[in-house]
Amino acid sequence: MAIFFSSYCPICGNKGFKVKNDTMIHHIKDISKMGDRGYSFCPNSECNIVYFHNKETFTSSMVNKEIGFKDISSPNGTICYCYNYPQSELYNESIVDKIKIRIENYGSRCDIRNPSGRCCLKEIRRMQKEQKKEEVYDISKN
Ligand SMILES: [Zn+2]
Repeated sequence: MAIFFSSYCPICGNKGFKVKNDTMIHHIKDISKMGDRGYSFCPNSECNIVYFHNKETFTSSMVNKEIGFKDISSPNGTICYCYNYPQSELYNESIVDKIKIRIENYGSRCDIRNPSGRCCLKEIRRMQKEQKKEEVYDISKN
């Protein structure tokens, strides 16, 4: 029997994607709050929700590490969970190459270590692009 549940975040309405319970167990502070059903991850950087199942939600304060991909996080928020790089590393132009070299040498466990269950590189590139746009905007203001 198929299990149906909404894969849209109940707060922002963005489409989430399914995460394995195994992934969540590594990131939720209080595992006893976790149900036995499947959860989705909300990828919207402006939304405070990390995991949800219908109306049941886990916010960013309910996970172990600050999520660097969410706008509300500080410069200490994590962007690469396999190698523990903080958000402040986004200013480092070579951060993507640095992570790639690490992955080549040591492998990666994004499926477990990243709260989204996915590789961080795509998100890092997106955030770096956005950061550059903001810088251009700042300069044009002066
Ligand atoms: Zn959301």
